[in-house]
Amino acid sequence: MTSNSPPILESGGQAIAGSVNCKTCNTPFDGAFCPSCGQKVLPGRFTLRMLFSQLIGMITNIERGFWHTFWMLLVRPWVVIEDYLAQRTRPYYDPFRFLFIMTGIASVFIIGLGLFDYQMENMNELMQLNQTAQQQAFQQGTMTFIRKYFNIMSLLIIPFFTLGARLIFRSRRFNLAEFIIVFSFLYGELQLISLVIQMAGFFVFHLKYNWIIISSMGVSIAYYAYALKPIFGYSYPGTVLRAVTAQLLGFIFFMVASLILGLIIGLAMVFMGLKPGG
Ligand SMILES: [Zn+2]
Repeated sequence: MTSNSPPILESGGQAIAGSVNCKTCNTPFDGAFCPSCGQKVLPGRFTLRMLFSQLIGMITNIERGFWHTFWMLLVRPWVVIEDYLAQRTRPYYDPFRFLFIMTGIASVFIIGLGLFDYQMENMNELMQLNQTAQQQAFQQGTMTFIRKYFNIMSLLIIPFFTLGARLIFRSRRFNLAEFIIVFSFLYGELQLISLVIQMAGFFVFHLKYNWIIISSMGVSIAYYAYALKPIFGYSYPGTVLRAVTAQLLGFIFFMVASLILGLIIGLAMVFMGLKPGG
């Protein structure tokens, strides 16, 4: 019956049930994975069918972990946080990879759909009323720079938000590393939520840019409060107030750091005999 089936694992060795030597590190073991190096037991030689099922498995696994994390962060974010920090990490996507993917998606859409340019145009209209031509040129340069590195810029702000949150949500429960994990998840999720808000505001409700920003910020704060309230046990108004303060503080830290960096770059340019913007 099975005369034409491919040779299986035990074909060369003894028929001791499942006992094999690891093909990578030679440790003898029972089961599907080597306990010492993690090598998976592969049946016989590689076949196209194996490669295909591996490929399918990889794609569905990534998607399941990813979409499961996305969905759970939307409906019960505190469960993700509690699970992950209790090191029940298996059902969830890696927080940093999640953050990078979400930021990437949001950046592509915000730049690609012209949302960024729309906001900048509106901002320029307000700011250029009493500016010299040189100031305008400098500002234009800054905007072009931000546009180009939008993706990285929105990631750079995270440590500052985390620091703000660490100061405001004073808790003996989480250390700074755990706070970074929490905010990678929440900030990643917010990237997509905020993208949807911005798109709705722009394409559906035709809002002015400042209303888009305000509603997007409002939703961010509501989301932080929703996610963090069950964890820290403050009241809802208390959580909202802390979320607002933490965001504000993070933003101030970010601006101060940017100013200092800008100053250093400006000074370096002066020392090298270059004129800023020239
Ligand atoms: Zn091994």
